[in-house]
Amino acid sequence: MAAIIDGAALARELAAEIAAEAAALAGAGVRPGLATVLVGEDYGARVYRRQIERTASELGLAYRDVTLPAAASAAEVMAAMRALAEDPAIHGVLPLRPMPPALPEADVLEAIAPAKDVDCLHPANVGRLMLGRPVLPPATPAACFELLERHLAAGGQDPRAWLQGREVVIIGRSNIVGKPAYLLALQRNATPTTVHSYTWRAGHLAAHTRRADVLIVAMGRPEFVTAEMVKPGAIVIDVGINSVPVTDAEGRPALDDRGRPRRRTVGDVAFDDVRRVAGAITPVPGGVGALTTVLLARNVVRACAAA
Ligand code: NAD
Repeated sequence: MAAIIDGAALARELAAEIAAEAAALAGAGVRPGLATVLVGEDYGARVYRRQIERTASELGLAYRDVTLPAAASAAEVMAAMRALAEDPAIHGVLPLRPMPPALPEADVLEAIAPAKDVDCLHPANVGRLMLGRPVLPPATPAACFELLERHLAAGGQDPRAWLQGREVVIIGRSNIVGKPAYLLALQRNATPTTVHSYTWRAGHLAAHTRRADVLIVAMGRPEFVTAEMVKPGAIVIDVGINSVPVTDAEGRPALDDRGRPRRRTVGDVAFDDVRRVAGAITPVPGGVGALTTVLLARNVVRACAAA
């Protein structure tokens, strides 16, 4: 039975350290400040915005919510981005995605001041990450490796030594999770492999995942990864956040007190099934997601300290 890697506990531990650093900066006259830019009404983006606001307030960061209507023009969004780039009270800027399809997302990301780019989205920082030069690491893949390395260290391993030459298989190739996770694995001298929807269509997905010493799953498919896709003893890091209906024993939708269908959050990994074979696994909720906003806040504190 796999060990459960507790992201919520690690988030609490790191939050205390980050809050102390933020307080020291505030005591010296500069309170670290984070702004999110939300355009439109996307449900997931709004949930993430609220989580960021809560984390910022818990850790003593100044937080600014910039919300624009879905119909905002590209010129209006770019003007908001420019104002944040120039504002000395703001040290981190995060445009939330997805943005309305009419917006030129690449231009918006390029309008982040590179020194305030706390999720490694600006092309200059993506390039630096690719070259292995120090940047503020992208929060979600950084959370994956923080959980992995703390788990290894807690088991008496030297994480850097353990990862050298290991097979790290990443399902998903998004710009915010899958691709940077590949680069973070490579930086650690692991042997990363990226697999994606075309690997699956070609019928090769499980052949790759079954080789993985570390399997990082970021696909947005509820409970997709099952035990037979996992090598016994592997460490499984589940990035997925999916909302699914709750059903009763007969498969009918379960309802809440007000008669509405109940929903629950699951990852991309079938947790109970995979737990039987894996060596360690992150839960959803309480795994990667729990740590992500805390690492984002850490990047804001670092950006503020460097300003
Ligand atoms: P995305 O939708 O941009 O990309 C999904 C990737 O999965 C694609 O590269 C696609 O090729 C791959 N994929 C889809 N179906 C597949 C299949 N059948 N076989 C193999 N590969 C397949 O996703 P994203 O933005 O990287 O997000 C992935 C998941 O992670 C989502 O559930 C999202 O909600 C979650 N997420 C969590 C956090 C966090 O902090 N925990 C942050 C960002 C995203």
